[in-house]
Amino acid sequence: MATTRVSEILPMKSPKQLEVRVLKRWRPFTPDPKRKTDMWYLLVDIHGDAIEATCEAKDVEHFSNLLEPQKSFKLNGYVSRPARNYMPMVPHKASLLLGRRVTVEPLENSDIPRYYYNFVRYDDLRARKTHPKPLTGLQHYLNIFNTLGAAEEPNDNLQKVAISDIITRATNDIQRRGKFMCNATISTIHEYRGWFSIKCGDCSKKGYSQDDTFVCSDCDMPSGPVLTYALNTIITDTTASTEAGFFTDALNSLTGFTCKDLVGKGNNNPNKLPPEIQNLIDTPLLLTINIRPNGSVGVDNARRITTISPPTPDPKSKNSKEKVDEQSITINVAPTQTSIEPKHINNPITTTQRSKEQPHEKSPHMPDTPVSIISQQIFHRSSQFTHFDSSSP
Ligand SMILES: [Zn+2]
Repeated sequence: MATTRVSEILPMKSPKQLEVRVLKRWRPFTPDPKRKTDMWYLLVDIHGDAIEATCEAKDVEHFSNLLEPQKSFKLNGYVSRPARNYMPMVPHKASLLLGRRVTVEPLENSDIPRYYYNFVRYDDLRARKTHPKPLTGLQHYLNIFNTLGAAEEPNDNLQKVAISDIITRATNDIQRRGKFMCNATISTIHEYRGWFSIKCGDCSKKGYSQDDTFVCSDCDMPSGPVLTYALNTIITDTTASTEAGFFTDALNSLTGFTCKDLVGKGNNNPNKLPPEIQNLIDTPLLLTINIRPNGSVGVDNARRITTISPPTPDPKSKNSKEKVDEQSITINVAPTQTSIEPKHINNPITTTQRSKEQPHEKSPHMPDTPVSIISQQIFHRSSQFTHFDSSSP
């Protein structure tokens, strides 16, 4: 069988036979010694081009004798997916997932190099010297939305709240959580996080897009894939913005298509939004919001409305009480204040202090919003994308 160059592997394309050497393998650091992590491999071909590969924690033992460091192999049956954006070891845009469908054949006496150099342009050297902190909170957030329950019919009898109230409830354990109605628009769609999820219809494992179809890394998937909407967005009204996940019922209603049908219209790339979803940005919506016990915000149902009416303050929300109380003094926030350093979040400056320190300038970017709401919003956002490092608890 003909062999392909590593440099020719594209994400989401069917596998072709590779001849590669395993230069190294490693498991990412985890503070929990009991947690089993995936195994990562750095593979290089005879041209010196390298690619990353991963096998899942459950398959580490299976591959431990098959793919030994410094040995060379013919490799096929992998899943090619987009490379990780965060700190990849090689600049290649694809990376390989090694599942149970992978075939490995040892290659004796190969001339494949035993080293790999990834040279950095001199211009990039300064930026590369600083070690960035990983955004591990992101995966946690994704996992929350991957374990959501079934959605419900819209219920107009629910209490209508503003997004600032949603944030207050989501970030405060004492506030009542549950379902609410909210008028809002989608201001941002996190396209890079995908708009639908793929599951193997046979073994329930995560599936992958490949050419014009979907594959499972472990089985031939005779029953086909299970496709479900899972859209990560930022929703906005005049009071604030927050992260929110849209799921099956909401997107069935907004697009007029089931996920399977919309994917079937030539949209099988989860990281490329079809126009039916792209067009939802800035459209006025009536949302059924579910604030879950863990503080995540899901949209159980949604429909288009003609205009957004001004949000009614939530009388049960402490935040809204402050808002009503403070309306007489109307403190506006200068744009520079929106970038509150994380160290200030635990010791927020009180509204009174701020009003003395800050000029009462009208901000061109912010609505007339009390400081307390903005700091809640910033706290909420930063808690979704927690930076973990050795000093974190
Ligand atoms: Zn499967």
